[in-house]
Amino acid sequence: MKCTPATDPAPAMPTATIRGACPHDCPDTCALITTVENGRAVRVQGNPAHAQTGGVLCAKVSRYAERTHHAERILTPLKRTGPKGSGRFAPVSWDEALTDIARRLGKIAARDAQAILPYSYAGTMGLVQGESMDRRFFHRLGASLLNRTICATAGGEGLNYTLGGKLGMKVEFFAEARLILIWGSNSIGSNLHFWRIAQQAKRDGARLVCIDPRRTETAEKCHEHLQLRPGTDAALALALMHELIVHDWLDHDYIARHTLGWEALRARALEWPPERAAEVCGLSVEQIRRLAREYGQTKPAAIRLNYGVQRAHGGGNAVRAVACLPALTGAWRERAGGMLLSSSGAFPVDRAALQRPELLADRTPRTINMVTIGDDLLRESSPAFGPRIEALVVYNSNPVAVAPESPKVVRGFAREDLFTVVLEHFQTDTADWADYILPATTQLEHWDVHLAYGHTDVLLNRPAIQPQGQARSNAQIFRDLAARMGFTESCFADSDEKLCRQAYGEKVDFNLLLEQGFAPLPVPDAPFADGGFPTPSGRCEFFSQRLADQGLDPLPGHVPNHEVAGESALYPLAMISPPARNFLNSSFVNLQSLRDIEGRPLLEMHPDDASARGIADGALVRVFNGRGSYECHAALNGRARPGVVNSLGVWWRKLGHNGTNVNELTSQALTDMGAGPTFYDCTVQVEAAEKCS
Ligand code: SF4
Repeated sequence: MKCTPATDPAPAMPTATIRGACPHDCPDTCALITTVENGRAVRVQGNPAHAQTGGVLCAKVSRYAERTHHAERILTPLKRTGPKGSGRFAPVSWDEALTDIARRLGKIAARDAQAILPYSYAGTMGLVQGESMDRRFFHRLGASLLNRTICATAGGEGLNYTLGGKLGMKVEFFAEARLILIWGSNSIGSNLHFWRIAQQAKRDGARLVCIDPRRTETAEKCHEHLQLRPGTDAALALALMHELIVHDWLDHDYIARHTLGWEALRARALEWPPERAAEVCGLSVEQIRRLAREYGQTKPAAIRLNYGVQRAHGGGNAVRAVACLPALTGAWRERAGGMLLSSSGAFPVDRAALQRPELLADRTPRTINMVTIGDDLLRESSPAFGPRIEALVVYNSNPVAVAPESPKVVRGFAREDLFTVVLEHFQTDTADWADYILPATTQLEHWDVHLAYGHTDVLLNRPAIQPQGQARSNAQIFRDLAARMGFTESCFADSDEKLCRQAYGEKVDFNLLLEQGFAPLPVPDAPFADGGFPTPSGRCEFFSQRLADQGLDPLPGHVPNHEVAGESALYPLAMISPPARNFLNSSFVNLQSLRDIEGRPLLEMHPDDASARGIADGALVRVFNGRGSYECHAALNGRARPGVVNSLGVWWRKLGHNGTNVNELTSQALTDMGAGPTFYDCTVQVEAAEKCS
C-alpha cells in the first residue's frame, strides 16, 4: 500500500516568510516567522506583531533552522540491526516499516490491546501533532491509556481545587504590579517573555522578590531572594497567611463574598507562626515577616508561580496554599493583582473532536502513569495490573532520559520481548532502544495549532518548508498506521489542516489565524475581581469538599517531602534538578552550539558542603543514592544553598560523562495530588570521583 502525506506542503517559492508557533514546552508559546530561501529555512525569528512574543525568541529556538537542517536528522525509517540498545539501525522503506509495525501491533491486539502502550508528552505542544490522530489510533485499537502526569498535574489539581481551573492573571498586567513574587520560576531561563514584563514593572518602581531553592539568574536580578529548602513552599505560604491574619492585612469583604472555608483556613494558618515556618523552610523569621508585610501592604501585588514548586510530595498542597493568598488580600480586585501559574484552562479546545473517545466503543482500557514507566515496564501480567506491556509507541518524548529512576526505565526498554517504535527527529537515548525509528517532521514542516499556558492567544503553525527527507508528521504516521490496521472510520482521513480547524471549531476565528497567525481569546482583564471562580461553590475554595470526599486534607497544608534532607545519614543532601538554561527538558541537548554554552553536566554545591567532602570547584564528583549513581562536575558558583545540591538537566545520557544523567537518582514516588512526579524531592550523597579534571 502506498501512503501519501496529507500534510499540505508549503508552496515552493525562492524566498518566503511563513508564520508559525513555537512548539516547545514553555509558557511563552511564541509566534515565529521563518524565512525560507530555495526551500530551506534560513532564519527563525519572533513575530513582532504578536505582543507576547515582541519579536524576540530565546537562544534555543533562535537556532531552530539549525535544528531542522541538522546533519543528524533522521530522514528515513530505520530498523534495528544490532542488539537492543546498541543504536545500530539500517534504513528501510516506509512500506516495510509500516507493514511490519502494523502486523506486530495487530498480533498483540488480537490477544489484548492493553498490552500496547502509547507514550508521549510535550515534545511538541501542538494539538494536532500531539493529541489528535495518535489518540484516535490508540482509542480505536483499545490500547492502554496513558496518564500524562510528568510535568504539571499536581499544580493543575492544586489550582483546580482552589480556583476551579488553570486560570489566572493576564500576563501583560504584571507590568502594572507594584510587587511581584516570582515563586519557583527561573523566568530568565524558562519564561523569558514574562521576565521582560517583570523588568518593565521594575523600571516603573515595582519590587521583585524571588522564592526559589536555587540562586538562579532570575533570583540574582530581583530585589530580594528567599532561598528556601525544596518542598517547603506551603509552609512559607501558611506563615504569610499567619502574618496577614495577625496584622489584619486582609480584605474582609472579598473573603466574605468570594471565598469558602475562611474560618477553617484561619485556624490552619494560625498554626504557622513565622518561627515555625523559618525552621522548616531554612529562612530567617525576619525574611518571612518582611515578605508578609510587603505582600499585605502593597497593591497591586502579583504572584508568578511556576511548576517548580509542585515537583515534591506536597506539590498540590503547595500550589493550593499559594493560590489562597490573593483571595485573602483581595488582590484579584485589580487586573495587576492575583496570580498566574497556568492560563491553559482559558482555551476552549474541543478535545473530543480531536481525539474521538467514542472510538473506544464500550471498552475502558487500563491507565498507566507515565511517571512510573520504570516500574511498569518491569511488571508481569496480573489481575491488578493487567497484561504485561508488550509494545511501546513513543512520540514527543524521550523517557529514557527524562523519566525518573532511569536504571529501571533502561532495564524496561532493554527487555527482549518488548516491541518499541519511536517517532523522532534525532536518535535520542530512547530511540537507541527502538526496534523501529520513524522520521517525524519538525514544526517548520507541518501544520499545527496551539494553546498557551503563559498567555491567552491561540497560535497557528503553517508549514514553512517541505518535509525533510522522508519525514512525515506524527498525524500522518498514525493515519498511515490506521490504514495498515484496516481502520476505515472516516475520521482517519482528516488532513492535518482539517485537524487544525477542528481543534477550536467555531470558538476561534480560523480565518484570523490564517491571516495573522494568532488570535487573542476574549478573557476578562481581572478574571476574579467579582469572584466567579469556576469551582463547585463559585468561590475560591480554601476548604475543598472535593478533597474531603476523597479522604484528603480539605485545607492546604505543608506535606513534608518523601525524602527530607538530613533525615538519612547515608544520603544527607537534598537534590533538585532544574533545567539547564540552554536546554528545554531533553530537547536541544544535541545541538553543539547550545551544548558548548552549557559546557558539561554540573552539580552546583555550596562551598561548605563541598569542602566537607574534599571537593574543589570543577572536580569530577559521584552523586549517588539507593537508586543509582551519576558522575558530573562540581560547580561552586554560589547558586546552591547549604544542604542542597542542584543538578542541571536534562542531559542526554549518551552525551553526559559516563552514559548516565541525573534521573539515575530521582524517584518514582508521586505527589499528593495529580499523581505527578517528585523530581525535586530526592536525597543524595556526593563524593569526589577518582579522577579529577
Ligand atoms: S521555548 Fe519559549 S521562549 Fe523560546 S521561542 Fe519557544 S515559546 Fe518562546
